[in-house]
Amino acid sequence: MAQMINGQLGAEGPYWDALAQGRLVLPRCNGCGKWHWPAVWRCGACGSWDHAWHEQPLAGTVFTWTRTHHRFAGTEGLDLPYATALVLLDAVPIRLNGLIEGDESALAIGAAVTGRTAFTQFGKDKIPSIRWNLA
Ligand SMILES: [Zn+2]
Repeated sequence: MAQMINGQLGAEGPYWDALAQGRLVLPRCNGCGKWHWPAVWRCGACGSWDHAWHEQPLAGTVFTWTRTHHRFAGTEGLDLPYATALVLLDAVPIRLNGLIEGDESALAIGAAVTGRTAFTQFGKDKIPSIRWNLA
C-alpha cells in the first residue's frame, strides 16, 4: 500500500509498505550515513542517490504532544479527545508522530514510550500508522 503522489511512488514508499506489514523502516544514506526523514531521493549532505532502508524498534521519548478536543474532517473514526505525540526515536535521530493509546496519566515531554503499528481510519481510508504507549 505505497503512497502515490501525482501517480508516482513517493520517496517514502518503503516506509508505508513496511508499516502496513507491521514494521518500521527508515532510510539511511549509503554515501555519508545520514538518516533522512521525511525520505529523500537524493541526500542533501553528500549528494548520493543511494539509500538503504533499515528496520528500527518502535521506542523513544515524547518530544512534544497535543490533545485534540474538536472534530475535524476525516477524524470521525477517532474518539474525542485523543492525544498525539511526536516521539524522538531511541535508535536513530528521527521524530515520528502517532496517537497515544492506553493510560495517558504520565504523558509528558520526555516520557518513554514504546510503539506498535496499526491502521487509523481517516475519512474512508485506513492509513498505516503508529500508536504510542507510555512505557
Ligand atoms: Zn549522504
